[in-house]
Amino acid sequence: MSTPRIVTAAAMPAGTPAVPVAVVGAGACGLAAAIFLAEAGIECVLLERDARAQGSTALSSGFIPAAGTRVQRAAGVLEDDPGRFAADIQAKAKGRAAPHLVRACTEAIAPALDALEERHGLAFELLGGFVYPGHAVRRMHTLAERTGAALVAALEAAAVRSGATILTEALVRELWCEPAAAAPAAPAGAAAMPPRIVGLGFERPGGAVERLACAHLLLACNGFGGNAAMVRELLPAMQGAAFAGHAGNDGSAIAWGRQLGAALADLGGCQGHGSWAVPQGALITWALMTEGGIQVNTHGRRFHDETAGYSEASVEVLAQPGGIAWDVFDDRLLALGRSFPDFVAAEAAGAVRHAADTAALAALVGCDAATLARTLATAPRLAPPWHAIKVTGALFHTQGGLDIDDQCRVLHAASGRAFPNLLAAGGAARGVSGDAVWGYLSGNGLLSAIAGGFIAARTLGAAAAAPANPSHSCSTLPPPERSA
Ligand SMILES: Cc1cc2nc3c(=O)[nH]c(=O)nc-3n(C[C@H](O)[C@H](O)[C@H](O)COP(=O)(O)OP(=O)(O)OC[C@H]3O[C@@H](n4cnc5c(N)ncnc54)[C@H](O)[C@@H]3O)c2cc1C
Repeated sequence: MSTPRIVTAAAMPAGTPAVPVAVVGAGACGLAAAIFLAEAGIECVLLERDARAQGSTALSSGFIPAAGTRVQRAAGVLEDDPGRFAADIQAKAKGRAAPHLVRACTEAIAPALDALEERHGLAFELLGGFVYPGHAVRRMHTLAERTGAALVAALEAAAVRSGATILTEALVRELWCEPAAAAPAAPAGAAAMPPRIVGLGFERPGGAVERLACAHLLLACNGFGGNAAMVRELLPAMQGAAFAGHAGNDGSAIAWGRQLGAALADLGGCQGHGSWAVPQGALITWALMTEGGIQVNTHGRRFHDETAGYSEASVEVLAQPGGIAWDVFDDRLLALGRSFPDFVAAEAAGAVRHAADTAALAALVGCDAATLARTLATAPRLAPPWHAIKVTGALFHTQGGLDIDDQCRVLHAASGRAFPNLLAAGGAARGVSGDAVWGYLSGNGLLSAIAGGFIAARTLGAAAAAPANPSHSCSTLPPPERSA
């Protein structure tokens, strides 16, 4: 398989089919963009490497935080708004999340979910039972199935109903762009202008390469968590972590961005998780911890504050002997866990172990019973019989990526300008978690994916409505015209 590359050419070869908007990736971000582009009357083609739209979205729990939706109000949560949500995001990130993106995403997500609910048949519910740590109120939205697989299936169905074309088994490997021009009236040696994208090339399963011209390109192909070399280089804190996301997180957006001179930002930000069952490779909901469960290492000792957040817990778990910990909980929390499909699947795979008393639990963990008894005494909300799951620290997805403005336009490193027709959103772009593993607030991933798709579509709608800008005209490509 070829590596992501840039081809410099003034135009695509004659006869190349052309579309107003091409979108790389059919996960939550790309599909949301396609739905909202269709609402704006703009035709788009999504190129997806897999045979079906899935991505990390299908592997996720499908929980989306939003403030001020109709669903939230109907559930009686009236005291929430984008400003309060933004404050929670910044509190978790200690003020280091990009303010323009936090504002843009928290303002966009409620209208996006309302539109998906009212006009596209996604019957969201507000997650009940507990409040995710760091969120001041209940604002996690989910479909009845409580799975990312159901979310991506519903988004795909809505995108197709809206008229989007999803080209599957189309692995985008080449972006074609015009040669970079010098800034008008710039002194010699001044930064070049960001180049215009003219199209892309994608590989079919047999290796044949096909090409598509586009007037605008949206990168919605997620991050670099599945590229071990990039994780070592850009996110060393997570280099020992199990990667739990989709194989498509191969760093393509970063590779293209570097070759195009795009700015990159917040590369140390990510969604880690401190409760990834081994050897099953399954998510164990962090609700067990927020509701009173504890983690012990193989010496039977607690080693961090389990209420701080699951992302930073990944690093704490990885620092324990063997990179292993045990989630310890009781009957009450077992019942809570069983309300999550991920947990049910993990239990069916044999992840949940049982111990009638502390001595049996110590034998399971392989630690000294007296030490474990002292540890359990620090968790007064728990009572035997015990249940335990062996876990490690995992990397779910990266939150750093191509730097973007509040319209999801990719920024050029040398000139600071936005590329004329290149956008990025979701995991491909800079997120809202700052530059460290502890900055991730639950739901930041799907927040930036779905809000980003919504914002990108709005940006392209505005571009289609604006009078043609001669400095950005392109003789070989159609503008992003609205269809009749
Ligand atoms: C186990 C787990 C649980 C999670 N739970 C939650 C949760 O409950 N809430 C939350 O907010 N976040 C959660 N996340 C994070 C969330 O899944 C991601 O942030 C989100 O799905 C990103 O959406 P996306 O559209 O950017 O990427 P994706 O859903 O990964 O979609 C990107 C698509 O691009 C395709 N692609 C990639 N490269 C190319 C290429 N070169 N050519 C063509 N196609 C390409 C991929 O195949 C993929 O389909 C979880 C993640 C994991 C791993």
